[in-house]
Amino acid sequence: MSLTTYQKKRKFTKTLEPKGKIAKGGKEPIFVIHEHWASHHHYDLRLEIEGVLKSWAVPKSPPKKAGEKRLAIQVEDHPLAYKSFHGIIPEGQYGAGKVEIWDKGKLEITEKTTNSIKFILQGKKLKGKFGIFHPPTFDKKSWLLVKK
Ligand code: MN
Repeated sequence: MSLTTYQKKRKFTKTLEPKGKIAKGGKEPIFVIHEHWASHHHYDLRLEIEGVLKSWAVPKSPPKKAGEKRLAIQVEDHPLAYKSFHGIIPEGQYGAGKVEIWDKGKLEITEKTTNSIKFILQGKKLKGKFGIFHPPTFDKKSWLLVKK
C-alpha cells in the first residue's frame, strides 16, 4: 500500500483534497463512490483495504441489477480521509472538476486474491454482493465490476 502516486499527482496548496496518510485498517471498513465531473464524467469506486482506499474509475453508472458488468479502470490508492471529500478540484489540477459523494456505506470483503475481490455493500444506492476482477486478457489496469 502506498500513497506516493496519489501525493505526486496533486498540489496540496491548490486542491482541497486531503494529503492523507496510510491509516490503521478500520474495524468497520467502508466504501464510497464519488461522482466526478472531470474531463470525462465518471464514477470512482473506492474500497477500504489495508488502510487505504483502493480505487477504480468507472466510466458508466455503477451496476444495480444482478449480472450487470462495468469496466473499471484501477487508479492510484487514495487515503482513507478521501472518503468524505467532495467539492471542486480547481482548473489545471489533476482531476479538475466537481466531485460529489454518490453513495457510501459499510463494506464487507468476503474473498480477495491478487486479481479479484468479492464484497458486500450496504449503501443507499448499492446493496448486496459485488465482485471486481481483472480478466487476464485485459489491459493491466482494466477490471470488471459485477453485480452478483
Ligand atoms: Mn475520478
